[in-house]
Amino acid sequence: MDDSQKKHIAILGSTGSIGTQALEVISANPDQFQVEVLTAHSNADLLAEQALKFKANAVVIEDESKYKALKDRLFDEGIKVYCGSDALAQVVEMEEIDMVLTALVGFAGLKPTLRAIDAGKHIALANKETLVVAGELVTKAAREKGVNIYPVDSEHSAIFQCLAGEFHNPIEKIYLTASGGPFRGKTRKELESVTPAQALKHPNWNMGAKITIDSASMMNKGLEVIEAKWLFGLKPEQIDVIVHPQSIIHSIVQFEDGSMKAQMGLPDMKLPIQYALGYPERIKSDFPRFEFWEYPKLTFEQPDYETFRNLQFAFDAMNKGGNAPCILNAANEVVVKAFLDGQLGFLAMSDIIEACLENVTHIPKPSLSDYFETDKETRTYAASLIPALQNK
Ligand code: NDP
Ligand code: MG
Repeated sequence: MDDSQKKHIAILGSTGSIGTQALEVISANPDQFQVEVLTAHSNADLLAEQALKFKANAVVIEDESKYKALKDRLFDEGIKVYCGSDALAQVVEMEEIDMVLTALVGFAGLKPTLRAIDAGKHIALANKETLVVAGELVTKAAREKGVNIYPVDSEHSAIFQCLAGEFHNPIEKIYLTASGGPFRGKTRKELESVTPAQALKHPNWNMGAKITIDSASMMNKGLEVIEAKWLFGLKPEQIDVIVHPQSIIHSIVQFEDGSMKAQMGLPDMKLPIQYALGYPERIKSDFPRFEFWEYPKLTFEQPDYETFRNLQFAFDAMNKGGNAPCILNAANEVVVKAFLDGQLGFLAMSDIIEACLENVTHIPKPSLSDYFETDKETRTYAASLIPALQNK
């Protein structure tokens, strides 16, 4: 295949967990994909290595203090180097790009994702926070521009895979599976004293720090519920969560005749990443295969909404609508960072999120600038609550 027939990919957040696994997929399929743009927050060394290995056309480093050294290293190799968040939002418009993989963390993904959609680029979406914050606006823009949003999140990829060939058949309900994380079955009393190191040990998945804490607190599943609503055009009552500790069934669709389709496989993010990048083709892979006798029992439990209050808050925010999910997300980003920095206990994270949902101004029909305002207002308010709850 010559270069013009390959899919030309931009990876926002190429130095992270999803970004590096996406590059493994690309490296295994050099005849299918060409790396066009790579970006990072501050890990300039890895970004430079990746850019040289994959012969990227351009890179963006968010951290301006790393710009000069990066430019000195890549300029002679003919690789363009930019820095800052405006450059990140602009670079996705490059004509050569066919698809943008959004693998950066948090609210920072919103602006570049919208710009990529506006420029008509298909999106492989890992950055779930973008859909949580502004799902209505983002999916509307994608529809208007004829842009497809391919889910990378394993649960949403599972649903997307179950929907293949079911275009005319309405969904009755979906079940998002959750591993339950490292603290499944723990009581509130036990959770009072858990440390960041304990929360960072996920039983089944090896991921970036923020999503690993979100998984421990069940906020990740809450964000995924809202993500699913927008990706698949569902009503809140059509979405349910089921705890499945083995992480083999990645999610389930139930149709109106009562039939249920599930997608299964070993927990390995490379599979959903590859499905999103390669869609509609299933690319042959040498990923390890599932062995039934290694998993003689697949089990299911109800989530514990009282212990893991974040999951309930996410359902509440989705039901309330407007900027409520944006408030949920901003508060969560602040408290996860505070927990990781040792400033806040595990349970206090939910207390601050609850206070933000109650006290930050609710806007029923937010504009794009309202989302930026809400994000800012919530971050300030959430941060102001930390000192009183410190060491709780
Ligand atoms: P990581 O923390 O591992 O990587 C994040 C990437 O984004 C890094 O390249 C980082 O750069 C960059 N980045 C971080 N903050 C910013 C910012 N403010 N501006 C620009 N770039 C930034 O995260 P993950 O790969 O784990 O997660 C990425 C997204 O994918 C998240 O939204 C997560 O919820 C979602 N996801 C992840 C899964 C996983 O298995 N990891 C599974 C499903 C979804 P640097 O390295 O320089 O800091
Ligand atoms: Mg997931």
